[in-house]
Amino acid sequence: MDKIADILKKKEHVCSFEFFPPKTDKGFENLVRTIEQLAVFKPDFISCTYGAGGGNRAKTLDVVQHIQQQHKITELTHLTCVLHTKNEIRNILEDIRSRGIKNVLALRGDPPQDNPGWKPGRDNFKYSSELCRFIRDHFGNDFSIGVAGFPEGHILCPDKDRDAQYLKAKIDNGADFVITQLFFDNKLYFDYAARLRKLGVTAPIIPGILPVTNYQGLVKFCGTCGATVTEEVKKIFEPIQNDPEATIAAGVRFAVRQCRELLDGGAPGLHFYCLNKISPTDKILAELRKQK
Ligand SMILES: Cc1cc2nc3c(=O)[nH]c(=O)nc-3n(C[C@H](O)[C@H](O)[C@H](O)COP(=O)(O)OP(=O)(O)OC[C@H]3O[C@@H](n4cnc5c(N)ncnc54)[C@H](O)[C@@H]3O)c2cc1C
Repeated sequence: MDKIADILKKKEHVCSFEFFPPKTDKGFENLVRTIEQLAVFKPDFISCTYGAGGGNRAKTLDVVQHIQQQHKITELTHLTCVLHTKNEIRNILEDIRSRGIKNVLALRGDPPQDNPGWKPGRDNFKYSSELCRFIRDHFGNDFSIGVAGFPEGHILCPDKDRDAQYLKAKIDNGADFVITQLFFDNKLYFDYAARLRKLGVTAPIIPGILPVTNYQGLVKFCGTCGATVTEEVKKIFEPIQNDPEATIAAGVRFAVRQCRELLDGGAPGLHFYCLNKISPTDKILAELRKQK
């Protein structure tokens, strides 16, 4: 499988999907079907998130390996360092490498709900930048490394300039590319990219796209991750929040417009948060490709 850093060098625009590891066997079967149907869009890579804790963490690698072996699509495994010791991380990275996985999204993660007070000690990584350095020091160029970026600043660091400095530290420590948190105002993305370029960061910054399918769920989620529900989004989706079909149709229209503007403005691709569903990512991509 390819390294994402190499794909990004070759292609003007990449397209990628993100899934999460299902909790049940039935969920896994459903995800397999979703991947099968979205694979027809020939994504450049597919990623799978890494759970905040518990038994589900091992499932990430099963999903990623399925993507790689069944579909021959480049894979990206997320890896968070919360709750893991450095030694455990080294063992997991060895497992990842032995499975032929070449791409890792290096994240700090957040303490899980059942252990909210967890704090890193001497045997843990404190920040994602430390994980990036560890991967490069111990695994050389075996992996292409991606990191998370926050156009509005991370929820715990609303000072955008400071947060951009922390992002730069991840790149300086070996990361190759950035995938952003969701956002609804493209200006946030373009300003973020400009802020990072000013600091000398040249790595590709792939915008993360969350299509709106459920307004109330969206407002709740944005509250937890610090993304702004813009006035425009409120105006479009609040009045139709009890009409699922109208919400999905408006969500597709909004996402198509947002994606088109991002690509036209120089974004190196689009990373879709698919939430393990085929639709509406399929509709958005079909529409975008029709416009090309
Ligand atoms: C694309 C994407 C994918 C994600 N996938 C997952 C996933 O699979 N699983 C999961 O659990 N979560 C995931 N997350 C959520 C992410 O783990 C959380 O947002 C987490 O709080 C931050 O992770 P990070 O890697 O950005 O951390 P870091 O880069 O370590 O930053 C964490 C906080 O510390 C601050 N900081 C960084 N460096 C320093 C420093 N040197 N000194 C002081 N402060 C510093 C930052 O500003 C920020 O507030 C994802 C997020 C994104 C955008």
